[in-house]
Formats: sequence, C-alpha cells, structure tokens
Amino acid sequence: MLSTLKGIVIGQRNVGENSRFIDILTEELGVIEITAHATRKINSKNAGSTALFTYSKFCLNKSKSRYSINSAEPIYSFHKLSADFAALSLAAYFADLIKYTSASEQRADGLLRFFAISLYELEKNEQTAHCTKDTSAPANISLIKSVFELKLSQILGLSPDLIACAECFCYEHDEMYFIINEGKLFCGDCFNDAKCGSDTRFVLNPALLRAMRFVIFSPNEKIYKFELGGKNLRELAFITESYLLYHLGRGFKTLDYFKRVT
Ligand SMILES: [Zn+2]
Repeated sequence: MLSTLKGIVIGQRNVGENSRFIDILTEELGVIEITAHATRKINSKNAGSTALFTYSKFCLNKSKSRYSINSAEPIYSFHKLSADFAALSLAAYFADLIKYTSASEQRADGLLRFFAISLYELEKNEQTAHCTKDTSAPANISLIKSVFELKLSQILGLSPDLIACAECFCYEHDEMYFIINEGKLFCGDCFNDAKCGSDTRFVLNPALLRAMRFVIFSPNEKIYKFELGGKNLRELAFITESYLLYHLGRGFKTLDYFKRVT
C-alpha cells in the first residue's frame, strides 16, 4: 500500500551496509520509523530528503507494520543548524523530547508545525549570532529552549495553570509561587509551606510570569517574539526544564550534552 506524507526527519540509525532507519515526525501518524534503503550510497537520490532535520514529502510503502521509502523529495532543510554545536545539540534534545512523548500511528495535531517553527528560530538565531558576532547568543538559545519546553508541556496536555492564584484567584502579585508538582500558582498572601509541603516551588516575579503566560496563551507563530533580561532568562530556563522533566519523569543525554557545550 502506498501513502504520501510530509514530515521532518528527527532521528536516523544505520542498518546493513548502506541503508538507514529514519524517524519522521508527521501530522497524521505522529512519529513513525521508516526504512530508507540504500540512502548511504554516495549517489542515492533520497540522501538529501532523508537527512536529519529535513522537511520532506515522502511516498511510502507499507508492508505488514513496516514503512519504507518509495520516493522522497526535500521541501526545506534545516542543515545550517549543523554549523553550530549548541544549536544542533538543542535541536537533538527537542527531537528526543518528541520521540519520547509521541505515540506512533496517532495524529500529532500542531506538533509538526510547532517543531518546524522552533527549528526555524534556532537556525535564525545561529545565523544572527555569526553575522553580528553577538556574544549573547547563548542567552537567545536559552530562550528558545525555555519556550519549547513550556509550549511542549501544553501540547502534551501537561500545561501549568498560570491564569491566577489557585486560592484567591488574584491575577497579579509581586511574588507568585509556582508549584512544579501541581503546576499551580499561589500568590504571596495565600502561599504557605504547610499547604505545599516539600513540593518544589519557584518564586515568579511579574516579568517572569508575564513571559510564561505569553508562551502559554499565544499562537505558535508568536511564542518566540519576546525578550527577557539575563537573570530572568536564566531563571526561566531552570523553571521550564524542571517543570517538563518532572512531569515526564526522566532526563535526556542530549540535554546534558547541550549544557556542556553552552
Ligand atoms: Zn492568593
């Protein structure tokens, strides 16, 4: 049976002498593994379309439960990411998150577009850093990482409730306590240790809370379009990572590598 799908290559493993298994993220079937025959040959016509972080149109054969490529055509390649270790390692962490959280053969509405927008921002950030010799580039990468982690939490149905204090429903306060385990906010007047026990909590100042609400309540096209100062950016990075990894219940080697190279 033949079917046509568009997707981004998010993983690849060599098999045999010159073939690969590749993982692609699609809208219709989530993440699926495909056999890409002979794509490691130097003259392979599908080598470009099956390269890591390439958005391609695939014509697939399905036999029993396995997919293989009949033909493929590249639409856009995020190959410029490979020029920067930090950008590439962050993209690899994003890919690992998607592989771990996406079920195969189930629709992944919105995830493909969100991932493509994120890779585009990462690629743009890397190019800007090289053009301007901007030494603050790692901070920009940090923002992309935080936004991705928080928005992915929401897409996975793990969104924190950032609307208001869970007790008195106030919207703003100089100090809002964000409780990681429950994904809830308590204002400085309502928070007390007896209520939250030993749960991990972070104090959010108004700028941090505003940034997190912006990510949660904005459409994908806008989520990367804000700025945050250095100290807040570092705190945001710690908060979004702690939140997502706590709710997934694990860490990632690609994240450890990203931290080593930035
Ligand atoms: Zn309150």
